[in-house]
Amino acid sequence: MNTPDKKKILIVGGGTAGWMAANLMASCWKPLGFEIGLLESPEIGIIGVGEGSTPQLKSFFDFLQIPESEWMSACNATYKTGIRFNHWSTKPGYASYFHPFNSELDVHTQSAFFYNCDVRRKSVNVYAHPDRFYVNAALAAQHRGPHPQDNFPFKMGYGYHFDSGLLGQFLRDKAKARGVNHYQAKVTRVNQQPNGDIASVSSDTGEIFAADFFIDCSGFIGLLIQKTLQVPFKKFSENLFNDSAVAMPSAQTEVIDSQTISTALKYGWAWEIPLTNRKGNGYVYSSAFCSADEAETELRKKLGLLDSDVQARHLTMNVGRVEKHWEKNCLAVGLSQGFIEPLEATALHIVQETLQGFIDAWELGGFTTVNQDKFNQRINARFEGVRDYIVAHYICNSRNDTEYWRANRQHQNVSENLSKVMQTWINGGNLPELILKLDIDRYYQAMSWYALLSGYGIFPERHQLVEGSAKAHKHDLLSLDKFITACASNFPPHRQLLPHAILS
Ligand SMILES: Cc1cc2nc3c(=O)[nH]c(=O)nc-3n(C[C@H](O)[C@H](O)[C@H](O)COP(=O)(O)OP(=O)(O)OC[C@H]3O[C@@H](n4cnc5c(N)ncnc54)[C@H](O)[C@@H]3O)c2cc1C
Repeated sequence: MNTPDKKKILIVGGGTAGWMAANLMASCWKPLGFEIGLLESPEIGIIGVGEGSTPQLKSFFDFLQIPESEWMSACNATYKTGIRFNHWSTKPGYASYFHPFNSELDVHTQSAFFYNCDVRRKSVNVYAHPDRFYVNAALAAQHRGPHPQDNFPFKMGYGYHFDSGLLGQFLRDKAKARGVNHYQAKVTRVNQQPNGDIASVSSDTGEIFAADFFIDCSGFIGLLIQKTLQVPFKKFSENLFNDSAVAMPSAQTEVIDSQTISTALKYGWAWEIPLTNRKGNGYVYSSAFCSADEAETELRKKLGLLDSDVQARHLTMNVGRVEKHWEKNCLAVGLSQGFIEPLEATALHIVQETLQGFIDAWELGGFTTVNQDKFNQRINARFEGVRDYIVAHYICNSRNDTEYWRANRQHQNVSENLSKVMQTWINGGNLPELILKLDIDRYYQAMSWYALLSGYGIFPERHQLVEGSAKAHKHDLLSLDKFITACASNFPPHRQLLPHAILS
């Protein structure tokens, strides 16, 4: 392997990861004469969940020159201005907070937020809840979409919600139009060269598919990377307890939310994802603390679907990552490479980063071990960076209703980086500086950490607070409210930006 003339690529798996890989690789490499094929088993099918994204997904479609108007309508998609977290904290005033995506307007409001948080961390009684400081929070609260009127030329960061089955089909058609060969068969055997490289896969139809390079998009099973190449899997279960989920749809309402809602329940949390034709719901929980039946009942109760015959889907999750995402002549992408529970909807973000990083490494001309090692380290660091931010949600919870929440708060399995972030915040130190120093701002910037830590009310207790001087109150919050309200008024109702929404 490792010669630049490798030209035949086989993607094994036709879930979202497989079809994203097919599109990006076809777009970059078909013009160079590469032959790209995708093999999937309709019998096994796809996982069929995963309906929220980060803002990164926009760059995927932009790169492929596919307009929002085309793909969003095909996938019942909606806009996402951020995530609301409900009931993770029991501290008065902090029952709920919104984690906004970045926007160009933050430059006018963020310094006030950081300032007030910093002052409150030093025990001065100033207002420091994130919801009041970001235009994206106002858009979500008012059910507005992130595209402003033409006379208000400010860009908002946003992600999307979409039907994952429809997205897969849409990407499949696009990839086939780009010349990707589509095969349907079940891999029954993976054949290796004497040096361990993968030579081909045999299928239940009797066909053998040979290639120079293989992309493992086979889902949690990790058919090539784990089962065949035996790359070890590093579990994250010591600090992320959730290993199961139950999902079910519910009816959409006239007003369509432009946010994901994550509500803490007894043994985990429930997602609520608005699509144009329905809501996607699910409960992510730990099977060590609650049974599948209990989880389903709790979710049904929350949704008012206790007596409904709506079908629930039960899933198990393999949380962690492989030690190497690119091993020999195989790249693992998607659930085969690892998965961090979906609290921040980061899986497709990592898929995109893995693919882009691999394409960049290839185009740099080298399938050298140096490129491979650097690439693997970078993707591993991304996994750990995302994991730490998600672990932070759990260690900051203040719920006492079940042992699950206490155990999540009390365990000591926190990475060195996360421990430094927490200590710096609690001690009133310079968090933005630390985040840059640790080089973790590319995973979550200071704004995200400030939103999370203040959103859970990680401040000195109320009785410890002292009244501040005029300097402590230097930001006029009423003017800020007016500014944010005025900005938000330039954005239309979310539904208006979704012409494909079926109006009732
Ligand atoms: C509960 C839950 C919630 C999630 N929420 C989000 C979210 O909000 N946002 C987000 O970005 N991600 C989310 N994810 C992750 C997301 O679902 C996946 O990253 C995404 O769907 C990609 O999956 P995949 O393509 O890797 O795997 P799959 O969809 O499982 O596809 C695997 C493919 O491999 C094929 N295959 C397997 N074995 C064989 C074989 N022997 N022969 C031939 N083909 C084979 C299958 O047929 C299938 O086509 C969530 C995941 C879970 C579990």
